[in-house]
Amino acid sequence: MNGMPDQVLITEVLLRDGLQMEPVIVPTDDKLRLAYGFLKAGVTSLEIGSFVHPDKVPQMADTDRLATELCAGEAASLHALVFNEKGARRALEAGVRHVRLIVSASDGHSRANAGLPTRQALDRLRPAAEALTDAKVQLEATIATAFVCPFDGETPPGRVVDTAHRLAGLGVSALHLGDTIGAASPWHIRRTVTAVQDELRDMPLGLHLHNTYGMASANVWEALHLGIRRFDAALGGVGGCPFAPGAAGNIATDDLVNLCHHAGIATGIDVDQLVALRDELHALLGRKLDSALAAVPAAPAPLRVTALSDIP
Ligand code: ZN
Repeated sequence: MNGMPDQVLITEVLLRDGLQMEPVIVPTDDKLRLAYGFLKAGVTSLEIGSFVHPDKVPQMADTDRLATELCAGEAASLHALVFNEKGARRALEAGVRHVRLIVSASDGHSRANAGLPTRQALDRLRPAAEALTDAKVQLEATIATAFVCPFDGETPPGRVVDTAHRLAGLGVSALHLGDTIGAASPWHIRRTVTAVQDELRDMPLGLHLHNTYGMASANVWEALHLGIRRFDAALGGVGGCPFAPGAAGNIATDDLVNLCHHAGIATGIDVDQLVALRDELHALLGRKLDSALAAVPAAPAPLRVTALSDIP
């Protein structure tokens, strides 16, 4: 398994991407309990919310309070999404030290999500990025609809590469390519990831996958073979996108951790603690969760296949 990493960094995005579509608004104290549970389980990168207008996404209205509570003295990487200068100011006031910018590679989704086509959305991000980098905040970015757009169809890799270059110019130190509606196949992953890797050789790349067509695990596997070591995931496969019709949940953190551990790839995350948290989440949301592990009573016994040659 040449090029397969021996460890990956999983960013838990339940508190943002996961909860933004839920009809239930999870109380801040419950979000805090989940956040501390994730950190205790070994999660070192946590997306805690989004500095978006509360009228637009009411589930994210408590991001300022969450950030203020969580970011004080916490060693883990806790980040929130920022779309514009106002969001940047809120992030700075709340003491956030890691911010993820978000821009769509396709004009159709960018208009729906940010109200502007891609180029103009990037222009609007510039003052936000400057304010944040001036304050020594670490910037990452997600390129949404990097593979398929619900409005424009397949996203040409050239658009993703161009967007990636422009984000690098804004000072981002890592990029995450988003399969926002979960319509990418391993073929899309290989085509676009290699296009970006060829052009931005030193930029750490990650994937943000949804599981609409059940291909998220296959896409992870393809990405691992391309040397990708960063993945977003949401506990229980919760999630969606309010501005992307048809999008299903994120790849489930519990399933991703299970997949990695069975492949001999370390995540630093305790799957049993994750399963306990998932049961708590189930009670909070009052609905069936979408992870494969949610359908079985407990985490399966370790079945460690460390190399393909182990399989007869
Ligand atoms: Zn997403």
